[in-house]
Amino acid sequence: MDLFEISRWASKKGINLVATGDWTHPIWFREIKRNLKETAPGIFSLVETQNLASLQNVKFLLSTEISSIYVQGGKQRRMHNLIFSPSLEVCEKIIQELQRRGANLMSDGRPIIGISSRDLLELVLTIDKNVFFIPCHVWTPWFSLYGSKSGFDSIEECFGKLSKDIYAVETGLSSDPIMNWQIKELESRSIVSFSDAHSSPKLGREATVFVPNSKFHPPTGGPNSKFSYEDLVEAIKQDPNSKLKIAYTIEFFPEEGKYHWSGHRLCDVCYSPKEVKEKGKICPVCQRPLTIGVENRVIDLAEEILTKDDLFFGENNAGAALIYDKEKKRRPFVSLIPLFEILLEINNNSPTKALLEYERLTSDFATEFDILLTKTYEEIEKIGGKKLAEGIRIVRERKVFVDPGYDGVFGKVKVFNDESQKTGHVQQKKIEKQPSLF
Ligand SMILES: [Zn+2]
Ligand SMILES: [Zn+2]
Repeated sequence: MDLFEISRWASKKGINLVATGDWTHPIWFREIKRNLKETAPGIFSLVETQNLASLQNVKFLLSTEISSIYVQGGKQRRMHNLIFSPSLEVCEKIIQELQRRGANLMSDGRPIIGISSRDLLELVLTIDKNVFFIPCHVWTPWFSLYGSKSGFDSIEECFGKLSKDIYAVETGLSSDPIMNWQIKELESRSIVSFSDAHSSPKLGREATVFVPNSKFHPPTGGPNSKFSYEDLVEAIKQDPNSKLKIAYTIEFFPEEGKYHWSGHRLCDVCYSPKEVKEKGKICPVCQRPLTIGVENRVIDLAEEILTKDDLFFGENNAGAALIYDKEKKRRPFVSLIPLFEILLEINNNSPTKALLEYERLTSDFATEFDILLTKTYEEIEKIGGKKLAEGIRIVRERKVFVDPGYDGVFGKVKVFNDESQKTGHVQQKKIEKQPSLF
């Protein structure tokens, strides 16, 4: 997953802007300095020596993830935060300061430090006030802001006076915006989504889509339009005069995340929020506390529980469902299943066949996002066959079948299921929990 490979995959997927990740790692930082050039303030692309015209359209942003493990209020806290830097010079200063405080940055792309989230935020803002800080995958139990195992009950509890410098949270794979809309303190903050990819094919499994803020600027759009680091930050801060704004986010079906429901993987116990209420939070097999999933944790912290009636279901020109809050105060989202996974189902779970087909479609037809979100069913059928068009319609209309993840076990989301063809529900349908393989 080097910068060339990231650019290549981003280009196939239709991602115009991707984060470098890991700039705190000295060797990776050297790669970044060697292979990227700044094309707009705070925005980078591959240097010309590696020029392939299409890859120049993929822009990079300097971002890193840091794991803070510390004690606060007598409890051990573990939390992951994203740090976006406006320039290489600022990265260098932060690296120096972390090393001066004894952080071992060579150990991992996502280093573990003993500095609290609050102190880390203060440190980076003191170095440069344009550094942007986002708590990530905020609902996962073990390493996040709201995590049930070692997080906090609020941004205020975690960041204190610096809470005002938290403008956004990242949803992670286990939660979608609806879950986050139920939290009072997130009302004025942006909900963003990133892929958290550890391999190139997983880039874009979640994403944030920015568009020109047409209220103030002529919409230019397109992958070649110029934007700066500051434009992105202002958009996330929801500055009314910003050049860009968030259009929507692209999400996993949250049931696919590893911590959606509650349970114990090794005890083969998986509870829905309703079952937790009825049966309690203790494992019936080992008698220890269950790993409480994201959905339960949201219910615990929510000001009000949103139901289907509190939502507005819209769609884009190609029929992909966009979900809004009823008052349309928040940015909407679309839930997708990666194209490769749809192709796996169509090709009887053969990764070789699915990958060949993925390569063919993304080189001859369109980018993955265009195939999933904008191409007409007729076009898809002509190039990719009837079954693919049918699969993409099911995803766009949210008629997929889900089997929620729990305690580190990925959930399953299936496109094709005989039941789905019989019913005409626009809502996603839940299948019965299958016996676990573990
Ligand atoms: Zn993380
Ligand atoms: Zn157990």
